[in-house]
Amino acid sequence: MNKIYKHSVAIIGGGPAGAMAAIYLSKYDIDTCIIEKNKFPREILCGEFLSCEVTEALTNLNLFDEFLKLSPVKIKRFKCYDEAKTKLSITLSFPAYSIKRSIFDTFLLNKAAEMGTKIYQPAKVQSIKKDGDKYLLKVKDSNSIESIIKSNFLIAAYGKQNIIDRILKRDFISKSSNYYGVKFHLPSDVFLENPPNDISIYFGREIYCGLNRVSADQTTLCFLEKRTNNNKSARHRLIDLTNENEYFGNLFNINFSDIIYNLPIYGTGSIYFGKRNVVENGIFMIGDAAGVIAPLTGDGIGMAFQSAELISRLLKDQLNSKINISELERFYINEWQLLFSKRIRIASLIQNVVMQNGLRKFGLKIIKPFPLVLRNLTGLSRSLTELHKYDYI
Ligand SMILES: Cc1cc2nc3c(=O)[nH]c(=O)nc-3n(C[C@H](O)[C@H](O)[C@H](O)COP(=O)(O)OP(=O)(O)OC[C@H]3O[C@@H](n4cnc5c(N)ncnc54)[C@H](O)[C@@H]3O)c2cc1C
Repeated sequence: MNKIYKHSVAIIGGGPAGAMAAIYLSKYDIDTCIIEKNKFPREILCGEFLSCEVTEALTNLNLFDEFLKLSPVKIKRFKCYDEAKTKLSITLSFPAYSIKRSIFDTFLLNKAAEMGTKIYQPAKVQSIKKDGDKYLLKVKDSNSIESIIKSNFLIAAYGKQNIIDRILKRDFISKSSNYYGVKFHLPSDVFLENPPNDISIYFGREIYCGLNRVSADQTTLCFLEKRTNNNKSARHRLIDLTNENEYFGNLFNINFSDIIYNLPIYGTGSIYFGKRNVVENGIFMIGDAAGVIAPLTGDGIGMAFQSAELISRLLKDQLNSKINISELERFYINEWQLLFSKRIRIASLIQNVVMQNGLRKFGLKIIKPFPLVLRNLTGLSRSLTELHKYDYI
């Protein structure tokens, strides 16, 4: 007979969205658990850039000083390099950082535990059932021991693509996407020059690639590619980029293939950036499970935090009888759309433009003499809207 554990709120996934929702719910004294399938620390695909929305949320929760103790790298400049030799460089006017996700996610999950959240880890949610108005989650731990978690509310924070999407028969699962993302951690000494406080984006044919330091001796290289006509490996595709974009090709002091073939790879394929339902069968989707923003904006974690804050606040109101269940669902859907729909759409549009060589070259040429256009175009992300100073290199 499986053991049954009961909680008011169960959260599937202990990434930034799940951990942050748990932190807010614990602050409201709501009995919460997280089920996380991986042992932490673990790496995950991400450019590892933290926008001002992230630092703002940490500050509001009095966690910013503790975050600084993790030695994140402060990012001060945003640069982009087109293979057609267009360069843009912009000074950021807001605090932005970068840090390895293994460190950041562990910090957040530990914080959630410290604040009273029960963490089941490593433990994988295998199925979800409804029993009256309760949710029953079948969970398997690393020793293959199964248990049941019973909750009044269920939050799904399991990321951008998941087997649970199929279990829930979500609308988008049959829609294919050609977008693939990959991350490497490069030793910082392989670069001829690697300014410590820059985030740089390099464009190539149907690919863009970001570089930023995440510690004194490591730099994150993360790219998104659209695979239409090629089946090249991620490493091969990067070697192509060293030829397509001379700025990227000239970055390294040793043969790029010697570097890249010796490093572990973190990646995922077929990332769907289109519309998703944010409530499915009464389950509240947060973070990437609710909607994925194009990584170019560096805003995914900020959105994960904001959706976590939103659902926690509404759940608190529901539990305090300020709103009923149908209002809870309606308010979550409406507020989520207001906060994120437009920025996801605009980010997708910009991503489509930069992935098309001709359009990107034309766009960058137009923007270059008018940096304010860039500022307005990128109104989708608070990080990018607050760019105040720009110059050319
Ligand atoms: C190429 C690329 C680059 C990016 N770069 C940036 C960037 O620089 N800055 C930024 O802010 N955002 C970036 N993002 C977006 C960012 O990575 C995501 O928005 C963020 O990770 C979303 O957090 P999450 O908690 O929703 O999901 P995740 O971080 O994916 O966490 C989900 C968690 O759920 C767990 N889980 C999954 N299934 C189960 C299950 N069945 N049972 C239990 N646990 C489960 C997983 O193990 C995982 O820990 C990037 C995205 C891509 C694709």
